[in-house]
Amino acid sequence: MIPGQFTYHRPDSLAEAVKLLASFGDEGRALAGGHSLVPMMKLRLASPAHLVDLHGIAGLKGITRDGNKIVIGAMTTQHDLLASAEIGSALPILQETAALIADPQVRYRGTIGGNVANGDPGNDMPALMMTLDASYRLEGPNGARDVAAAEFYQGAYFTALEPGEILSSVSIPEPPAGHGYAYEKLKRKVGDYATAAAAVILTMAGGKVATCAIGLTNLHETPLLATDAANAVIGTSLDAASLKKAAAAAVAIMAPAADARGPVDYRKHVGGIMVTRALQRAASRAS
Ligand SMILES: Cc1cc2nc3c(=O)[nH]c(=O)nc-3n(C[C@H](O)[C@H](O)[C@H](O)COP(=O)(O)OP(=O)(O)OC[C@H]3O[C@@H](n4cnc5c(N)ncnc54)[C@H](O)[C@@H]3O)c2cc1C
Repeated sequence: MIPGQFTYHRPDSLAEAVKLLASFGDEGRALAGGHSLVPMMKLRLASPAHLVDLHGIAGLKGITRDGNKIVIGAMTTQHDLLASAEIGSALPILQETAALIADPQVRYRGTIGGNVANGDPGNDMPALMMTLDASYRLEGPNGARDVAAAEFYQGAYFTALEPGEILSSVSIPEPPAGHGYAYEKLKRKVGDYATAAAAVILTMAGGKVATCAIGLTNLHETPLLATDAANAVIGTSLDAASLKKAAAAAVAIMAPAADARGPVDYRKHVGGIMVTRALQRAASRAS
């Protein structure tokens, strides 16, 4: 339970943090809330020689608006998201999801940047970011670039982040007024990671689904966008047959690990149920 030795750095600018991380290469890691990284270090599953703490960098925290996009600084905590009136009105699904992450203690420290950069298939925010068509601003030794959340995840703990890059903000287009939303998460107990979870954002017109996006958490080594499942309900009134089709299309792309949360078939089965419930609840909220 005691991490290996490391040197602690606390830069006060993003440029300095990038410089430090670039110079350390594989030996350095950014430290945000520490609620994924520190447990990994205590278990010796990660042993970085240098930790670059991002807490001293002004400007990495906060929620702003840029046209129709909500821009969230990487060091904004899950608690900050839950306390924000702006997020509550523009992106209520973000609050619904944040409230299902761990417990208040973890949410006070854990950041949105750490949650989406971590690459753990069990993290809840990545699939939601894909569902919302979000993009990530990455700042590195060669300047800044924007990467769509849907392009970011390459495998368990493998992302598009290059050595020396820091994720500085998340940019989310505001969904249309009157959209329906739901994040359904099955977990073994309060505070647990998902056995299976699904995010849905949709709009309705004339009693039928006009647009729909569905994301899946912890049902593959990366978060997934269930595009065929979403297409199966567009143009329908979410009748029983189209819900069944959507759940089957989502199950078809799931490949969860068999672990303490259950065998593969069980996790796929409950994954389909999460999709059905999220679709129904999202539709009930749409106007
Ligand atoms: C008991 C417990 C239960 C939990 N349950 C859940 C859960 O149900 N759902 C869930 O989603 N999470 C859960 N978590 C994880 C928690 O949400 C973490 O806070 C989150 O995964 C990581 O965010 P962090 O700010 O703590 O990042 P850290 O732990 O500091 O960092 C995580 C990783 O991301 C990298 N990183 C961090 N920030 C950046 C950045 N800005 N740019 C580049 N790389 C960066 C770090 O180098 C590290 O590799 C749980 C944690 C605990 C301890």
